[in-house]
Amino acid sequence: MNARKPEPAVIATWKFGKAAAEAAGEVLRAGGRALDAVEAGINVVELDPKVTSVGYGGRPNAEGIVELDAAIMDGPSHNAGAVAALRNIRRPISVARKVMEQTPHVMLADDGALRFAVLQGFPEEELLTPQSRLHWEEWRLKAGTTHDTIGLVALDADGNLAAGCSTSGLAYKLPGRVGDSPIIGSGLYVDNDVGGAAATGVGEEIMKFCAGFLVVEFMRSGCAPDEACRRTIARILAKTPANKDITMALIALSRDGQFGAASTRPEFPHAVWTPAGVQMRGSAES
Ligand code: ASP
Repeated sequence: MNARKPEPAVIATWKFGKAAAEAAGEVLRAGGRALDAVEAGINVVELDPKVTSVGYGGRPNAEGIVELDAAIMDGPSHNAGAVAALRNIRRPISVARKVMEQTPHVMLADDGALRFAVLQGFPEEELLTPQSRLHWEEWRLKAGTTHDTIGLVALDADGNLAAGCSTSGLAYKLPGRVGDSPIIGSGLYVDNDVGGAAATGVGEEIMKFCAGFLVVEFMRSGCAPDEACRRTIARILAKTPANKDITMALIALSRDGQFGAASTRPEFPHAVWTPAGVQMRGSAES
């Protein structure tokens, strides 16, 4: 039931979330659905080769192959779709949506996901840019890792929510490694009667706590989105204090249009969009 219609709203992770939130916001401004807004916003980041942790130009696995994880969840139908360890496709969030809409399944992985994407008409393309190849070659000489996810939650003018995540996961991961981002309830979760959430950071830790689900459950029990994100981080750190030294961050949007975020780090840049415009929050510069 959505008796009261809130203003459309979008929240998205990291600095690159600004362009995503703007693109998603344009869909909502034109009267579009939250689900279309999530896909359109995330596509912008997936297609940008300068973003080296998502889609085209993402960091490869230890063997130099880019493997992508993505998931999308639709509030009104409570349906979801996901792909894991998908190679050679630039827009994994769109493949995740096809899994949701065109199959009886929720997740396709690896070669099966690729074959499905090709059957759906997605072109097969090399995802490693000269720049990411260079970084991979440097890494082979000197270990180190990076990661980030575009996570986005949108609320449309009909009061419906959707959320999505897309990432190349941990750079130089073992081939076949899957993080939290395509796991419903970990990297993202939506309950259309409550709100939506998405996560970013080290997926191995996030998925052990079903972080996306937990944020939404805290909101269900009356917490504002900010408090729900903080409590989820607190729950994780209470059980695993060493996680204070790794990056984990959460965004949330309630069904009445309130934003929230929290992180294990003092700064967590994220973008929020309302019809008044887009704003960066969560860092000293914003
Ligand atoms: N959560 C992503 C993963 O573990 C990475 C990130 O968001 O930083 O694959």
